[in-house]
Amino acid sequence: HAPQGTALTSASDARAYDLDRSHVFHSWSAQASLKPLVIAGGQGSRVWDDSGHTYLDFSSQLVNTNIGHQHPRVVEAIKKQAETLTTIAPTAANLVRGEAAERITDIAPVGFNKVFFTNAGADAVENAIRMARLHTGRDKVLSTYRSYHGNTGAAVVATGDWRRIPNEYARGHVHFFGPYLYRSEFWATTPEQESERALHHLRRVIEAEGPSSIAAILLETIPGTAGIMIPPPGYLPGVRALADEFGIMLILDEVMAGFGRTGEWLALDAFDVVPELITFAKGVNSGYVPAGGVIISDPIAATFDDQVFPGGLTYSGHPLAMASIVATIEAMNEEGIVDNAATIGTDHIAPGLAALAEKHDVIGEVRGTGVFWALELVADRETREPLPAETMGRIKSELVARNLIPFTMENRIHVVPPCVVTPDEVAEAVSIYDDVLGSL
Ligand code: PMP
Repeated sequence: HAPQGTALTSASDARAYDLDRSHVFHSWSAQASLKPLVIAGGQGSRVWDDSGHTYLDFSSQLVNTNIGHQHPRVVEAIKKQAETLTTIAPTAANLVRGEAAERITDIAPVGFNKVFFTNAGADAVENAIRMARLHTGRDKVLSTYRSYHGNTGAAVVATGDWRRIPNEYARGHVHFFGPYLYRSEFWATTPEQESERALHHLRRVIEAEGPSSIAAILLETIPGTAGIMIPPPGYLPGVRALADEFGIMLILDEVMAGFGRTGEWLALDAFDVVPELITFAKGVNSGYVPAGGVIISDPIAATFDDQVFPGGLTYSGHPLAMASIVATIEAMNEEGIVDNAATIGTDHIAPGLAALAEKHDVIGEVRGTGVFWALELVADRETREPLPAETMGRIKSELVARNLIPFTMENRIHVVPPCVVTPDEVAEAVSIYDDVLGSL
């Protein structure tokens, strides 16, 4: 087994590593200490380098490769589109863009008939917020402390022309606590109690901020990066009811949870809740070409029938992205990939992780659905003290040394393989987690 970033025996891997360290500036990182894994190719749930190492990808990269690596149908669609048209202004009409929008609205709840395309998740969130502000004439946006919605925001504030005017991002953001039973802020001991108390807290925040100043409540349907915390019963419908009571728009961020990850087309399908705006990216085309967007409900879309929507991106609805979206959704439909995520979750991941929790005291909680699971690791099951960062670092490199690419955050391992993962691959991963947790 090759430890992370070493034993690169092939010249191409060695060169990839050297060029990376010399010239690539990485996201979310102190640059000097990075030892990135070289990845040269992939197929399904596996990736490899040219030096003979193959890895089980239980990260789906950044939880985006829902359809697996190099799905032939999507690759083919991108090639075919590349031969026809590879760039087009967002203001033109084009068949593949229309088809992608139609496929996405087919998946959305009834009453969602328009799609605004972006390049990624962050700009989807930016534009959803902008739509909610312009629709309501209000400024504030409420979101939770335990959330991730993207990493942009200053560009439009820096912009000097008319487009910045209805849209001062620097103000109006308020945070609150969402439910998280394992570490309840509300001293709750049952899911129902957690839900009720979290809703009470949200009502107090809305009242304290002034309901008529609040444009939107922005939530990940299932908070992903923050820990894959499945909302307790009644919570999302309760948020919907509060939003309705005060004329606030609900934006559900499905960037990570959407497009098959939870075993549903959209995570919201399992929760009896319909928002005004839905953001997406990642799984919509498994990240084969950068793409994201906002699915817009009819009343919000109607606001911009006569009023100009000032948002826009040069590559909105990029033809390569659109072709990959159409092919991805078709393949997911025809190959039953969303159902596979659901079945694998219930029949293989859930029991596999439960067995690990039986065996390893370091697992404080197992939670998730579909191919969207978290193991929360603790130093002590009674106090729930999180496993220290140093041990987590060791776990991460031991997993990589056993040829599994993990997704770790704080004191958690997120078990997030592609939706196409097989029972054998799940068994293989569970045995690797077992080995590593047993060796601590
Ligand atoms: N929203 C959610 C829920 C996300 O998980 C992410 C990315 N992890 C984003 C938004 C931002 O997406 P991007 O990195 O494509 O800008």
